[in-house]
Amino acid sequence: MIRGSICKKCRRAGQKLFLKEERCFTPKCAMVKKPYVPGMKAKKHRSALSEYGSQLAEKQKVKRIYGITERQFRKYFEEALKARGVVADVLVKKLETRLDNVIFRLGWGGSRAKTKQIVSHGHILLNNVRVNIPSINVKKGDVITIRQGSLKKVLFKDLEAKIKKQTIPSWLSVEKKEDGVFKVAVIGAPTREEVLLPVDLAMIVEFYSR
Ligand code: SF4
Repeated sequence: MIRGSICKKCRRAGQKLFLKEERCFTPKCAMVKKPYVPGMKAKKHRSALSEYGSQLAEKQKVKRIYGITERQFRKYFEEALKARGVVADVLVKKLETRLDNVIFRLGWGGSRAKTKQIVSHGHILLNNVRVNIPSINVKKGDVITIRQGSLKKVLFKDLEAKIKKQTIPSWLSVEKKEDGVFKVAVIGAPTREEVLLPVDLAMIVEFYSR
């Protein structure tokens, strides 16, 4: 069952990664019901990880949260190493500005798996051009909207209510136009302080510095 396999990622990580929608905030969450490693029913206490194991676990957490592959993560890390600034800050910026993540932060899909689908199915316009690549990075000045033909889809039902429930990041500005269409402008860049990832990024930097 899909739900089970997704929740196993949290159980392996030993913490909630919020990969499902409302369920993550209910007592039905697998981390509430079965907060131990899958397959280790009797063993309620996790064995202490080695330094290497802990660093690896932090890296896996980030990949699971954003739903990206090892190759994609490695690429972001190498780009962050070459860029100016603190590596962890640049890494967070790269992850957060992915178009699928932006749609997730806007509350247009309850999980990143869903927002990946929203983008890859071509429902989103970036600067008035239809896009279908979830990993595209947005930048200051970009404008994101929903394609006119997609607005009637069940997927975007109650969009206004969904947006209202969401804490919109300070680097995005949402405006409802006269025709009822939501226009999102990228007005800044995400910061590590605002994102508050439940991950020790310094350990990931150490992992790749070996
Ligand atoms: Fe599943 Fe969400 Fe709970 Fe993780 S936080 S175990 S994805 S319900």
